Order: sequence, then C-alpha cells, then structure tokens
Amino acid sequence: MNTSANATPHITLIGAGLAGALLATLLARAGWRVDVYEKRGDPRLKGYQGGRSINLALAERGRHALRLAGADEAVMAQAVMMRGRMVHFLDGRTDLQRYGRDDSEVIWSVHRGELNLILLQIAQDAGANLHFHRGLSGVDFDARIARFRDDRDGSEHEVGFDSLVGADGAGSALRAAMGEVADLGERTEFLGHSYKELEIPPARDGGFSIEPNALHIWPRGRYMCIALPNDERTFTVTLFLPNQGDPSFETIRDGADARALFQRDFADALPLIPELERDFERNPAGLLATLYLERWHLDDRAVLLGDAAHAMVPFHGQGMNCAFEDCVALAERLLAGGDRGDAFAAFQRQRLPSARAIQAMALENYLEMRDRVDDDDYLLQRALERELAQRHPERFMPRYAMVTFHRMPYEVAFDRGQRQRELLVELTRGHDSLDSLDWDAVDATVRARLDPLPADA
Ligand code: FAD
Repeated sequence: MNTSANATPHITLIGAGLAGALLATLLARAGWRVDVYEKRGDPRLKGYQGGRSINLALAERGRHALRLAGADEAVMAQAVMMRGRMVHFLDGRTDLQRYGRDDSEVIWSVHRGELNLILLQIAQDAGANLHFHRGLSGVDFDARIARFRDDRDGSEHEVGFDSLVGADGAGSALRAAMGEVADLGERTEFLGHSYKELEIPPARDGGFSIEPNALHIWPRGRYMCIALPNDERTFTVTLFLPNQGDPSFETIRDGADARALFQRDFADALPLIPELERDFERNPAGLLATLYLERWHLDDRAVLLGDAAHAMVPFHGQGMNCAFEDCVALAERLLAGGDRGDAFAAFQRQRLPSARAIQAMALENYLEMRDRVDDDDYLLQRALERELAQRHPERFMPRYAMVTFHRMPYEVAFDRGQRQRELLVELTRGHDSLDSLDWDAVDATVRARLDPLPADA
C-alpha cells in the first residue's frame, strides 16, 4: 500500500478483461504501479476461456483508445473490415447498406479472445502486475483490504489497496461489495430477448463462404440473426429471439426446432451452418440487459467502469468501445493528479450522461436492425440522410456516423440524432422518392434547423 503524496502512485484493478487490460496499460505507461486481479487463468497459457460473444465490432472510439495504448497496430492486424450491413431478405435477395461514405468509414470485426491476449501482453510489457486466478470475493473498505479467492484450490488471499477500479464486467463483484456499504441506485432492465451463437465454417476452398467485408443481418420483425466475420474465415452467427411467444427460446428448444425455424425464416443461412443442431444445443443462451447505476464511485476508495458501471444491450456494437473510452477518460483524470476522490467524481460526471445516451441508442438500434432495415419509409429516410450529409456536411451527419466514426460525446450524438430524425420524417412525409422533393426548400430547412456540428472531442 502506498499513500504518501510524492511516492509512485499505486492502483488496484479488478478484472483483466478488455477494459481492465487497457486501463492497466495506460496507467503503467505513465509510470504508475498497477496491480490487476483476474478471476480466470492466464489465457496466454491455456487459451481464451471467455464465455461470451466470440467477435466484436470495433469502431473509432475504441481504436482511438487502442492507439493511445500502443495496441492499435497489433489489433488491426487480425481485424476484418465491415463496410456495411448486408441485409438478407426473406425471399433470398440481399442488399449491402454502406455504413459510411467510403472505406474510411467502416467498422472492424475483432476476435474477443485475440484482442484480450494482445491487451494483456501490452499491459504486462508496460509494467503492470497481472495476478490470475484471483476472483474478488469481498472488500473491507474501512481497512482498505480486498479479499480474493483462488478458483483452483479455494484459498483466500488478502491484499491492501489505495483505490480499487472495478473493470470486472456486468456481474461485477466490486459493485456488489460497494452496494453493501452505499446505495448505488442500481437497476437492471432485462430486454426480454436472449441470444445464442452458431458458426459458419470456411467454404470448401478454404475461403469465406459469404461476403467477408460486411455485417450480415437477417431481419425478421420480432427477431433476427446477424453474422460477423472472423480472420480464420469463419463467421459467428448470433440468433436473437424473444424469451417468450412464438418463436422464442421457449418454443425453439432443441436442434430440430432450430432447423425448422431456419428452414422457414433464414433459409439462405441454413446450408452455411452445418453444425446447427450441435451449436444450438451446446451453446448457452445469453441474457440481454441494461444496467443503470446512479453512483459509480465510493469517495477515493473505489470506482467502476465499462460493463461494471453501465452494461448495455449489444445492438450498437459499442459496449467495448464505450468501455475503452471510459478507460481514457479515467486515466486522464487520474494522471492530472490531485485528489483521487475528486478525479473519480469528475469521471462519473463526464461519463454517466454518455453511458446513458449510448445505452438508449443501443436499445433503439435493436428495433431498427430487426424491423426497419427492410422497410420502405426507412430506406427513403436513409437515402435523404445520405443526400443531406453530402449537401451539408458541416450540419448534417447520420447518427450512426456520429457514434461510430467520430468521438463527440454520445449524448451530443443522441440529441442531434433526434433532431435530425424529426427533420427526415418531416421532409419525406407524402413522398415515395427523393425526386419529388423541393431541394431549395429542403436546404433552407436544414440551415434553419441545424446549427453547425461540434468538433470531435
Ligand atoms: P468484460 O469484458 O466482461 O471483462 C470483465 C473481466 O473481469 C473478465 O476478464 C472477467 O473474468 C473478470 N472478472 C469477473 N468477475 C471477477 C472477479 N470477481 N474478480 C476478478 N475478475 C473478475 N461491444 C462492442 O463494442 N462491439 C460489439 O460488437 C459488441 N458485441 C457484443 C455482443 C454480445 C453478444 C455481447 C454480450 C456483448 C457485446 N459487446 C460489444 C459488449 C462488450 O462485450 C462489453 O461491453 C465489454 O466486454 C466490456 O468490457 P469490460 O472489460 O467492462 O468487461
């Protein structure tokens, strides 16, 4: 334990997942003494044992943080570019809806396990001390002692700390310990839908069996499938279904039910997933929920970030990106010096509104992905959106672009997105193509209603 003002600052991180490893790197590189305690074993020795989504969409916010940590190059070496959404209609037609203007505005599919390995290695190289098989089991905040349990032999270990950072994910043990001594205003809202992962193997010739540079979507109203490419030429398919109703995880119970569902609703995907029954029966269904927390820190003794503070549903592909942005924000506050409690409070003031905004946008995106990407009104609004972004680049930017390709605070993107959406609905009302629009009137409306965009953070 180290509390003297001019000694090297010390911090204790809980969780060596995505956020924990990145924050450890940022602080260790700045000369801090960093100890990271992780419940699982070292994935560099035994292979990645993660329980959740196999691949993730990485966007600009996440890449910016990776650049600051010196990890971007290594991560990008195994990333697969996704230019847009490839929508698979029920009749088998497909349509690529680009995310941005060109290949400078794309997202990247990265393998969670490989990403974690890279980040752990970079954290260790930066000087962070990584302790594996150390699951936080309790905290005495008055004595500043944390207790860890070794899952191999059940032994308990006590460690003194100055401050704890909870990067231990949605089921955070640190959050539970903080909740025992303070009211964190915690509330979890379950979506009522869950997910299951399936795999598309490489084609017979060893290449990708469908277009690799896209995020594939099979929107079907109340439910959907998506598929993201992996660098070993497979795709991870995620089936999202309601928990109740028909179809749901209540009615689709085994591999045979899953095959019948795919035959009816995802017919072009079915031949691509040869082990559908095995994958469906072997892989667990993951719950989806949003975690709202009013209070992220306990004076200077503990603070939460990433999923531990604000888990969200995965439909904007931003949970990790947001967690990485948290790491940069917290590192900046800590490295500025001064009182740690003040730094934690300032971090919460900055990031809580941002987290709330991206949580709301992630929920909205579920409806958009499963129900709107093949709807005529939506497609016309998207066409106008693209046109306005070209005619007024200083005033109009699609919300997806603000969230994905830029780093303005999420709440700014949320607010502008709402105003822009109202405009799109208004301008396309009564039209079924852009040809009948009065462009002088459209341009004047945009200038009158939207002030110039703020510069990126
Ligand atoms: P985690 O990655 O969960 O890491 C927590 C770490 O803490 C783990 O290593 C865990 O073992 C460890 N730990 C847990 N308990 C303890 C304990 N008691 N003591 C010590 N260590 C502990 N985000 C995106 O940006 N893009 C996407 O495309 C995307 N897709 C997703 C798809 C799905 C299906 C899901 C479920 C999520 C997706 N996300 C996505 C969200 C993303 O996975 C999370 O936001 C991200 O993993 C959060 O990182 P974290 O470090 O906060 O938590």
